[in-house]
Amino acid sequence: MVRLVFLGPPGAGKGTQASLVADLYQVPHISTGDILRSNVKEESPLGIQAKEYMDKGDLVPDQLILDMVQKRLEHPDAENGWILDGFPRTVTQAEEFAKKLLSGSSTENETESNSFQVINLEVPDDILVTRLLSRGRQDDNQETIKNRLQVYYQQTQPLIEFYQARQQLVTVDGNQSVDVVTNSLKQTIDKLI
Ligand code: ADP
Repeated sequence: MVRLVFLGPPGAGKGTQASLVADLYQVPHISTGDILRSNVKEESPLGIQAKEYMDKGDLVPDQLILDMVQKRLEHPDAENGWILDGFPRTVTQAEEFAKKLLSGSSTENETESNSFQVINLEVPDDILVTRLLSRGRQDDNQETIKNRLQVYYQQTQPLIEFYQARQQLVTVDGNQSVDVVTNSLKQTIDKLI
């Protein structure tokens, strides 16, 4: 079963690649950034709360994200696999997510089927900034980008070691053309599943 977490700094190409790979393997692409942005647009209670954090490039509080992801994963389309893009983004999110997945398995054997792999998309900093500035999303301005990168290094990068220690991590070079990255992801994933 394809159960993957895409990890990487803002601008690494997680969204683009997760969407392409989800189509290839016929599993839902679950992007916390996309779900949050549609909540902001609809002005839902979650969207109203999340907006102030997103506009500054800060992380939305863990509990809001955990509830949101849990709800999304309960959708029937997520039963046969998923690609998570933008989650987990903090060690707390990763720990709570691992507990949740484990609590979903009633026997020891099912623990195995509740596991997932993490793909770390690696791109150098200077390339990230250029990519984000050319993207032009509302939160893609100089100031916010600087903060988002800082937040990434402080709060998300520790997940690389977290998942490496649990032998769940594979790293892919994201500093190549879209097609080349998709191909190396495909090769990597075919070996994992
Ligand atoms: P990027 O492409 O910059 O990584 P995303 O679309 O993944 O951006 O996320 C945009 C914003 O949404 C983040 O800056 C953050 O405020 C919020 N966000 C997305 N996912 C999470 C998460 N797992 N935890 C906390 N905040 C999140």
